[in-house]
Amino acid sequence: MEKGLVVITGASSGIGMEVAKTFQERGYSLLLLARRLDRLRHLEGKGTLCKQADVTDFKGFKQAVHEAEKQLGPVRCLVNNAGVMLLGLIHEQNPAEWKQMFDVNVLGVLNGMQIVLPGMIQHNQGTIINISSVAGRFTFPAHAAYCGTKYAVHAITENVRKEVAKYNIRLAIIAPGAVETELLSHTTSSEIKANYEGWKSQMGGVLHPADIARAVLYAFEQPPNVCVREVMVAATRQEP
Ligand code: NDP
Repeated sequence: MEKGLVVITGASSGIGMEVAKTFQERGYSLLLLARRLDRLRHLEGKGTLCKQADVTDFKGFKQAVHEAEKQLGPVRCLVNNAGVMLLGLIHEQNPAEWKQMFDVNVLGVLNGMQIVLPGMIQHNQGTIINISSVAGRFTFPAHAAYCGTKYAVHAITENVRKEVAKYNIRLAIIAPGAVETELLSHTTSSEIKANYEGWKSQMGGVLHPADIARAVLYAFEQPPNVCVREVMVAATRQEP
């Protein structure tokens, strides 16, 4: 498969930023997207474009991708990484938090796929890597709505794989366990955050974003006839 444009959402922090650095070191042309453009600027240049985009805004997201394609060629890979985790108990959590998670984690992923799939079908090749979670396979305390979004990412990815396999398009799920990033910081309950931090230290620390970036690169760099359907990666001492 020829090298082409790799689009990474949520590249301003954590896993997305580490995936961006890993792919940049390998010489891929990149389009890096996030709302906080100032956090991306230092990666711009040498075949890397950075654009502001909110994945819930289909029109703006699509425009950013199409503008980049004019400069750097057709999208060969989309890493749907942007996500939010707002932990909470359903009987007390603000429903606006559920909506934000479903908008970003589920509809954002669907938006990304609809933006790139027509071009991939036309070129009869392409790879979409959706960052789900172990919370897309198992349930955890105070994770009901978040787990709902990640179970959805798993189901959607498996379904879309069947829709587009005949066009040589690969769909991969990377399902990380706990990783040290900004993800937990947006949860509003200080008690839930403290419990989560306690769980992390109990297992002796969690993964580094680079551990996940290697899994993303592994899935992408297989020969075109090989589809890595799912990789679940967690700290050795993580339970479950
Ligand atoms: P971070 O909070 O560090 O990064 C999240 C990224 O998503 C940021 O770059 C943020 O950019 C972007 N983002 C959030 N909302 C939007 C939006 N509306 N439009 C565009 N970009 C958005 O978290 P992680 O790196 O940990 O998370 C990356 C992915 O990994 C998520 O899907 C998460 O669910 C998943 N994951 C993380 C785990 C962990 O333990 N860290 C475990 C399992 C899965 P900006 O705010 O600039 O827009």
